[in-house]
Amino acid sequence: MPEVSSSPVAPIKASKSAPQKAMEKLGLKRDIDLALHLPLRYEDETRLTPIGQAREGETVQCEGVVIESRVELRGRRQLIVKMEGEDGAQLLLRFLHFYPSHQKSMAEGQRLRVRGELRGGFFGREMVHPAFRAVNEDTPLAQSLTPVYPAGANLPQAYLRKAVAAGLRRADLAEVLPPGSVPRQLPTLREALDFLHHPPPRVSLATLEDHSHPAWQRLKFEELLAQQLSQMRAQRERAQLRAPALRAGPGGLHKQLLAALPFALTAAQQRVAEEIAQDLARPRPSLPPRDGGSPSPGVEVSSGDFSALAQPMHRLLQGDVGSGKTVVAALAAAVAMDAGWQCALMAPTEILAEQHFRKLIGWLEPLGIKVAWLTGSVKGRARQKMLDAVADGSAGLVVGTHAVIEDKVQFKQLGLAIVDEQHRFGVAQRLALRKKLEVQASRGRGQSMEPHMLMMSATPIPRTLAMTYFADLAVSTIDELPPGRSPIVTKVFADTKRLEVIAKIADAVENGQQVYWVCPLIEESETLDLKNATETHAELSAALAGHGVGLLHGRMPPAEKAAVMAEFSANRLSVLVATTVIEVGVDVPNASLMVIEHAERFGLSQLHQLRGRVGRGAVASVCVLLYTGPLSITGKDRLRAMAETTDGFEIARRDLDIRGPGEFMGARQSGAELLRFADLQEDAPLLKAARALAPRLLDEHAEAALRHVERWLGGKAEFLKA
Ligand code: ADP
Ligand code: MG
Repeated sequence: MPEVSSSPVAPIKASKSAPQKAMEKLGLKRDIDLALHLPLRYEDETRLTPIGQAREGETVQCEGVVIESRVELRGRRQLIVKMEGEDGAQLLLRFLHFYPSHQKSMAEGQRLRVRGELRGGFFGREMVHPAFRAVNEDTPLAQSLTPVYPAGANLPQAYLRKAVAAGLRRADLAEVLPPGSVPRQLPTLREALDFLHHPPPRVSLATLEDHSHPAWQRLKFEELLAQQLSQMRAQRERAQLRAPALRAGPGGLHKQLLAALPFALTAAQQRVAEEIAQDLARPRPSLPPRDGGSPSPGVEVSSGDFSALAQPMHRLLQGDVGSGKTVVAALAAAVAMDAGWQCALMAPTEILAEQHFRKLIGWLEPLGIKVAWLTGSVKGRARQKMLDAVADGSAGLVVGTHAVIEDKVQFKQLGLAIVDEQHRFGVAQRLALRKKLEVQASRGRGQSMEPHMLMMSATPIPRTLAMTYFADLAVSTIDELPPGRSPIVTKVFADTKRLEVIAKIADAVENGQQVYWVCPLIEESETLDLKNATETHAELSAALAGHGVGLLHGRMPPAEKAAVMAEFSANRLSVLVATTVIEVGVDVPNASLMVIEHAERFGLSQLHQLRGRVGRGAVASVCVLLYTGPLSITGKDRLRAMAETTDGFEIARRDLDIRGPGEFMGARQSGAELLRFADLQEDAPLLKAARALAPRLLDEHAEAALRHVERWLGGKAEFLKA
């Protein structure tokens, strides 16, 4: 856009060029980022192939002198350049798009260096749209292979090559790891990067492509080491923290709750509840004094009573949808309240929070516990009342959305924070949550104590990931479902069967069954989402005259949502047409049939979550996946996985296969790429070496460890803690 000179305010900074913006988008900001931006592949411009020896189908670089150049008008207008090599063989260059400048630089008599795929055309050897360059007899050849970088729109290779080369030159790549710590025979980081950006001619391209070359190995080792170091550091930091030791009193709340439940815990629930209770009460191990100093400053411990201190729990409770995590959370809360501390339970959506609230009130109020309710939609007087009850400690348990940890909410003494469906909170949100909890904690009692933290998820973390990314996290797993559940049968149909499916629904509804109909996800268009849901609602209402059909979508005011949910729970609605707002946690045991439209648009774990809304009662449940073809390969994989298994752990494994670890963990959105170079499975030996080295570095070379993490992770290190 032309600058407007009469503008009263002069622009402070020239706006960034398109390639600069494109580079930023790729995260290429610091010199080290550029140095670590590695080529996808290489082009060989280090040698010339005599024209006469070039073979059809090969990509080669040839040199010769132009002997003829003309624009042909027959058929398509094209520029034809004929050149002759030293060996007397001829090569025809054909350009379908060209500018006058092309003609000029390829005029007769000019020496050219061209690179492209050789074809055997009707008129002999030819190349279509080769890369070309005017040269003279002593223009040197490239000394190393030419890198081709991952680029993206608006970022020409030539520009990027220059930027990377400059970044590589400037970057501080000095060896920070002490001698003898890197697995033998691996080059230094500087050597490895110089090599990978500019490999010498005649290097084995295969070892570069499959990343088995020592230069690649060094890079992967460095990356894994950085990741291990930051994990272990987080783990050690946490070990320094203190939390109240929470112990259930004999015959107290915990016991009463157990006795009041309408069911017996499964063995798995008992086991994980015990693991959590032990964590909450675990005395803080006495720490070796750091730097020869006294215990961390700023901590006053009342009357030196160390037995009241524990190490804060940081535990993930994972269990398939419907495995009964909520009651385990309630038991943990009971322990905390028994010990005289408050507890917060956060859910990612209002619907889910409300459902928890109702359930927990039902369980806990008869036992004399006050449960407060805090979400964005609780306002005015009601809100103030809740806030007061939280602040003066009369509310033992606070249930809500992330509104629970907003700045204005002050707990008298928060002892335990429970986050349900934690995978639904993004990585960045989880991090914010942790920070806020730290603030809450230090405000708490004039004492620097952290609340314990229990996270719950129905998306299990595969073991390799748990080992590498969650060294800092203890994991409890519920591996069985409560008895009396009948398995869900999943059927996949093309959407041409839609009318038949509706007929089946009519039958089911006649028989007193309840049905979810989930409407498709239309990316980036809530309006379209809504239109679709509304139309489907009308269609089903017409087809099922005489039966209640409800509608639930994200745009409805929370109170209205809650009302519809309540109607459905009470079986006054037979069918609930919903967008994905019902995805997490919703629990209506009588619902036994689910239809998911445009199932191909959902992710695998999302489909599994949705399906988990049925199969909660004793009636045999059915989940129908309607898709609109043609399906992509991954779309097919997802639907097949859904049809083949209902095991959440198996689903998670397949999801990981289909998506890879970065996306699986939802880190993509936060911009924190997890592992760029290393592969947890393939590079297991390097991972092992990194795991062995990391604690040694932290203990004996703390400075080196810090520099290494900074170099590799920069600002991302924080994300790994979330
Ligand atoms: P999720 O693990 O998906 O959060 P919920 O906690 O919502 O599962 O539990 C699903 C349903 O199973 C709820 O209705 C809950 O009351 C019930 N439930 C939980 N534990 C048991 C059990 N041991 N026996 C029978 N029903 C149970
Ligand atoms: Mg749940």
